[in-house]
Amino acid sequence: MSISRNIARIRQDIPPHVTLLCVSKFHTEEAIREAYQAGERNFGESRVQELLRKAETLPKDIRWHFIGHLQTNKVKQALSVVSLIHGIDSFRLLEAVSRGAIRPVDVLLEVHIAQEESKQGFSAQELEDMLEAGLWKRLPNVRICGLMGMASLTEDTAQIDREFGALQALYERIKAHYFADAPYFNTLSMGMSGDYRIAIRHGSTLVRIGTSIFGERNYE
Ligand SMILES: *Cc1c(COP(=O)(O)O)cnc(C)c1O
Repeated sequence: MSISRNIARIRQDIPPHVTLLCVSKFHTEEAIREAYQAGERNFGESRVQELLRKAETLPKDIRWHFIGHLQTNKVKQALSVVSLIHGIDSFRLLEAVSRGAIRPVDVLLEVHIAQEESKQGFSAQELEDMLEAGLWKRLPNVRICGLMGMASLTEDTAQIDREFGALQALYERIKAHYFADAPYFNTLSMGMSGDYRIAIRHGSTLVRIGTSIFGERNYE
C-alpha cells in the first residue's frame, strides 16, 4: 500500500476548496515525508510531545494542526508550532490559549454532535450560550475561525447525515449571527476516513483523514 497513491485517490474525491488534513498521529516521520513529497502540507497530531518531536525534524513549511484534547498546562508548548487548534471545547480552554499566546492563534470550537457520550465538545446550546455571553470577544489572542465536529462511529449513514447536517446548520447560524463581518470565520472541520464524503455534502471545508492515507495506527 502506498501513501502517495492513497492521497491521489482521496484528492479525486475532494473538491479543490476543501482542505485535506493528513492525520499523522502515531505514524512515523518517514510516512509524513512521503505525504509531504506527494504535495501535502497540512498534518494533524493529537499529542503535544509527539507534535513537538515531529515538528523539530520535519520541513518548516508544514502547517501543524492540533486535533486532540489540549490540556491547559500544555497550551504554551503546543502554541510554539501549531497553526490551527481544532478541539476547543470549553471557555476555560479558550481563555488559557489566549493567555498563553503572544499573538492571535487560530482556533475552532468543537461541537458534540455524536450520540456517544465519550466524545468531547460543546453542546449546541452551550456553544450558543458561550457566544451570547460575549466574553470571548475580549480575549485578545484567539481568533475563532469556525467549528469542528465528529459524527457517531456507526454504519448508519442516515445517522451520520443527520449529525453533519445539524453541525452545518449550526455553523451557518453562528456565522451569520456572530461572525458576519469576520471573513476568517470560514472553516467547518468535519469528516474522517469513514465519513468524509458525507461531510463534504454537508459543506465541510476541511476533512481530517488518517487511516485511509497512512493505514491502521499502532498505539504503542
Ligand atoms: C484520529 C482522528 C482523525 C482521523 O481518523 P481516521 O478515521 O483515521 O481518518 C480525525 N479527527 C480526529 C479528531 C481524530 O482524533
